[in-house]
Amino acid sequence: MKKKLLVLLMLCLAVFASASAQENRWTQVFDTAGDAGNLSIRFLWMGPQAPEAEDKPGDCMILTSPDGKVMVLDSGHPLSISYVTDALDAMGITKIDYLVASHPHIDHIGGFAALMDQYEIGAVYTSELEYTSSSYYRAYMDAIAAKNIEHVILRDGDTLAFGDAVTVNVYNPTGEAALTPEEQKNKTEFINNQSLALKFTYGESTVMLAGDLYVGGEKAIVARWGEALDCDVMKANHHGANTSSSKVWRDAVSPQITFISSDAIEDVSIAKKYTKNGQKMYHTLLDGAICLRTAGAKDYAVVTEKDRTTTMFD
Ligand SMILES: [Zn+2]
Repeated sequence: MKKKLLVLLMLCLAVFASASAQENRWTQVFDTAGDAGNLSIRFLWMGPQAPEAEDKPGDCMILTSPDGKVMVLDSGHPLSISYVTDALDAMGITKIDYLVASHPHIDHIGGFAALMDQYEIGAVYTSELEYTSSSYYRAYMDAIAAKNIEHVILRDGDTLAFGDAVTVNVYNPTGEAALTPEEQKNKTEFINNQSLALKFTYGESTVMLAGDLYVGGEKAIVARWGEALDCDVMKANHHGANTSSSKVWRDAVSPQITFISSDAIEDVSIAKKYTKNGQKMYHTLLDGAICLRTAGAKDYAVVTEKDRTTTMFD
């Protein structure tokens, strides 16, 4: 009897210790102590898809520039907003200097209206694509107008300064794409192919973040920009699904480190393509929230919330 009690007690302690270790790791991911002088990008774990949600939890990245400017690139589904606000609050952020929408789907802009309510916003950056059939799109456009927030339209070929030291090149969309008959049948694909493709350059370090581009969009961008797309780090387009990550795109960007943001392994073979030649791949389902930090010298330090429980992608 005594022995059983002891085992039970030890088991309880082990569970408690691992839960608090997990919390400790989350705190490390969002600890801003090492951010000064670095470009930091936090890829958020946005939770599992809620039973009542019709869409994925989506993407959210919190970026901080070496001189302390804050960018939130996408905000996930409205039901995942607490993951975003918990992270922002842990980082002590009260002002979002750049609130950027890769494209206007709910799993990317669903939290925008809430963020505009709770944080001071410098300016909102979007493509020129309007998506007025979405109530969440209308809600944040209304919030921009009501709060008199500056709204900047980004187009293919534009350059944006993220603080003093980081340059953002915009490689999509052109704004000239007319809906082809095929795209009219499948508007989701058309909208995803209008995603902003953003290349961040800090010194020698380069990162590509391009929303939910499908293969067609990837190929069109490679045809326009070719070698300019080369980056050390990339987020796999469209949550690592097989709608995207064409060979043409992977060869053009040729990342050494790839991040995938999803509550599921959308496609195992796509995920494996990003580790084929010894490159690193991080996935929010397997690694939890992730912080990438670079001092601008092709140096990349990564902190993950969780330890992998699978060797499938090693
Ligand atoms: Zn998405």
